[in-house]
Amino acid sequence: MQAIGIFGGTFDPIHYGHITLAGIFMDTFKLEGVRLIPTGLPPHRPPPPVSPLQRADWVRLAIAGRPGLSLDEREVRRNGYCYTFDTLQELQQELPDHLLVWLIGADSLANLPQWHRWQALLDLGHLVVACRPGSDLDALPPPIARELQKRLVIASPDGLSHGKISVLPAPLLSVSSTELRQRLARGEDVSALTPVAAAITASGLYLGTSASGLYKD
Ligand code: ATP
Repeated sequence: MQAIGIFGGTFDPIHYGHITLAGIFMDTFKLEGVRLIPTGLPPHRPPPPVSPLQRADWVRLAIAGRPGLSLDEREVRRNGYCYTFDTLQELQQELPDHLLVWLIGADSLANLPQWHRWQALLDLGHLVVACRPGSDLDALPPPIARELQKRLVIASPDGLSHGKISVLPAPLLSVSSTELRQRLARGEDVSALTPVAAAITASGLYLGTSASGLYKD
């Protein structure tokens, strides 16, 4: 069975952390490719003020020329809330010969019990977790800690299987979209944080906004 990587996120905006993780994810598991899927209307946080299509455009620009990475616009084009469960189920129907290997950060893993049908979601593919500064895998809420203990397997292409979870062996990357928005709001140079700094800055979309409080989960 072929394995395809799925990396969903708000990407508000996309940064080097996302791109570096996607590359390590693809190489570690010998994935056929990684589809980046920007969220349309996230159910568990206020809608980002920057439009879904704009966020998707920056993702497209940021991954241009990076082999294996592609943009999947299904969520930004969907009307109504976007649940990861629905997206993975849809992908499974479209790609019946593929195992879906989906990536989230450790901060998202801690919130997983708030996601729609989260336990059924874990059975739809193989989940890979990226460690993140400030998010401790030893201090997860008990329901998800139990699932992690039950389902954990070593990160390797041979260990890929429905319902299992692996931790991505990658360095800790401190960059976040929150930091990026804060710097953009202050008019600072962000070219060290994202490959699409020029396009984002030219849009003026974050300049002068109170970026820090608006977006957190
Ligand atoms: P924000 O700061 O607005 O919360 P973010 O930087 O977490 O944004 P998202 O688009 O929400 O970016 O992230 C998409 C996915 O990538 C999430 O599962 C998140 O945990 C993960 N992720 C983002 N940045 C990192 C990072 N530096 N290290 C590990 N995981 C990350």
